[in-house]
Amino acid sequence: MKTKLYTHLGHDGPWLLPKTDEEYDERISFIKTTKPEVERAARLCLIAEVTAPLPSTLQKTLAAWQKARAAWEKADPARQKAYAALQKAYAALQKARAAWQKADAAWQKADAAWLVAINSPEGVAFHAKVCGCSWSPEHPDTLEGLAR
Ligand SMILES: [Zn+2]
Repeated sequence: MKTKLYTHLGHDGPWLLPKTDEEYDERISFIKTTKPEVERAARLCLIAEVTAPLPSTLQKTLAAWQKARAAWEKADPARQKAYAALQKAYAALQKARAAWQKADAAWQKADAAWLVAINSPEGVAFHAKVCGCSWSPEHPDTLEGLAR
């Protein structure tokens, strides 16, 4: 990413910033179209490209900034792609969860109806016919009375 250094791109921000040509053009356009008219000339007057050689500390710090920025730009597309996949997966999760909640409510209702049916007089009579143990709705523990 090629940058140039500009002074006072904002009135109260950092006094010197590295910006691409595109970023610079966007800022100038933003000032010309969006900032109050009374401020525009003063803002534009303070913005200037700095081409003078930088003091050594600034030069070293800028080199590190550019290296870190390049690494950030290299990593960002993968982050964006993963985030888009996450959003898609999240939407699928919400849809699946809604379907599951509907199914779960129906299943719970059916399960409750099943318990009512097997403990109804008809269910109890059927138990006596197919099993014949001491179980009853009043005494549901089939090991009741067993020394444990
Ligand atoms: Zn039984």
